[in-house]
Amino acid sequence: MIYDFSDLYKGQNEIILEDFIDKYTACIHYTAGQKPPLTPEYYKNILEILAASFHEDKLLCSFEELAHYKLSCGIPYVILINEIYGLQTILIAKMSQHTTHGKVVELLALIKKISNRVAHIYLDNYIDKLISLNNIRISSIADLFEKNIISHYESHLIWLSELAASIQKAQTEDFVQLDHTLCDFGLWLHGKGKKIIQNNSKYKSLENLHMNLHLFAQKIHDYIDEKEYHILINYLEKCELISLGIGTELALIDNILMNKRITKDALTGALNRQALKNIFESQYELSLATSTPFILAMCDLDYFKVINDTYGHIAGDKVLELFVQVVKKNIRNSDIIIRYGGEEFIIMLPTIHKEKGIAILETIRKEFQEMPLTIANATIHATVSIGMMEITPEFLYKKSFQEEYLAMVDKALYSAKENGRNQVVSVWP
Ligand code: GH3
Ligand code: MG
Ligand code: MG
Repeated sequence: MIYDFSDLYKGQNEIILEDFIDKYTACIHYTAGQKPPLTPEYYKNILEILAASFHEDKLLCSFEELAHYKLSCGIPYVILINEIYGLQTILIAKMSQHTTHGKVVELLALIKKISNRVAHIYLDNYIDKLISLNNIRISSIADLFEKNIISHYESHLIWLSELAASIQKAQTEDFVQLDHTLCDFGLWLHGKGKKIIQNNSKYKSLENLHMNLHLFAQKIHDYIDEKEYHILINYLEKCELISLGIGTELALIDNILMNKRITKDALTGALNRQALKNIFESQYELSLATSTPFILAMCDLDYFKVINDTYGHIAGDKVLELFVQVVKKNIRNSDIIIRYGGEEFIIMLPTIHKEKGIAILETIRKEFQEMPLTIANATIHATVSIGMMEITPEFLYKKSFQEEYLAMVDKALYSAKENGRNQVVSVWP
């Protein structure tokens, strides 16, 4: 189809471009020394096409190139779509004084076509990435030292990859199981799973997530033939997010079961150090399988020798017990505390980001400081120093990880000690 909007905003390309770049592309940053983004060039070209009579393919091709360029820069779909609709807003504003209603409708339909073409390119790329990421997630579960209920997440990852492949092939035959009570995971959840997951609210939340996942898959099934790619990309993103949510819930339930099972340190009730290697590797693989970060922290009580020397070893023991009580009060029962050495502890908080991790550890630090222990008329005030980091295996997968990460949090702990103790210091990998 041939379009002609040339008489509507003649000579205004420069102004439109400036206005548009200023308002709608502000999120594109580049640091000094880097190549500046080519975005303005692409849009300049697009406006030049719009300024004369043109065949729709010409404009669609330009937007296709732009989409590929944006993908190569890692710009998310929503940002490009926001730009396209921003351009539409500006064009309509320029046109409205002169133009007929028919022209505006024509432009709106054209922009819709463009955004669907762009969505198709992003969707294709997203599906490729999703399938390869899912393969990593599946192999992470396979690598787990000990598999409990998380193994049932695997079947839904395979289901998700198959769903994505069906979208790519635009096929509704041989579609994934849409009935949430009949897929492998659903059969387990409504059968054996119900008995294993004793926690009722966790079970309900898993059931809801799973039902929603299947509802979105049903919508995908209904829209495949419509070729409405912006809808498909949206629903597939929702499916991935919900799948990860299911994996996360299962991983947390597995942690609760593990916390109950593993041998504890007799004095404090924290987990024994012997379990550290396996637990760390499990958290790492689970983190990779569910695309969530986790927090690793190393805690060391301050001037503990002085406490022992002043009040005696029994009082020292009580302080150690008190510290673990304070930690347990502030973490979930799916979080982990391990006694690493005499007055040293490791904390792992799955599915938690750095900011939240710092907040939790700060609360622990403050509460411990403010909770004095009275023994035989003596009041003992103890404090703790903590080194922590957020670990995101998805971005930084290292095979020989454990020692390296422990060394990093240990270094942060050392800084906390050096800076005056009784504080939380975080590091980036
Ligand atoms: P800093 O602030 O630098 O950490 O000083 P600190 O005194 O805490 O460090 P240091 O490593 O010198 O002392 C740790 C003390 O912890 C020495 C050891 O006797 C004591 N300790 C280790 N295990 C236990 C235990 O199970 N019970 C008691 N009461 N004390 C312990
Ligand atoms: Mg120490
Ligand atoms: Mg100490």
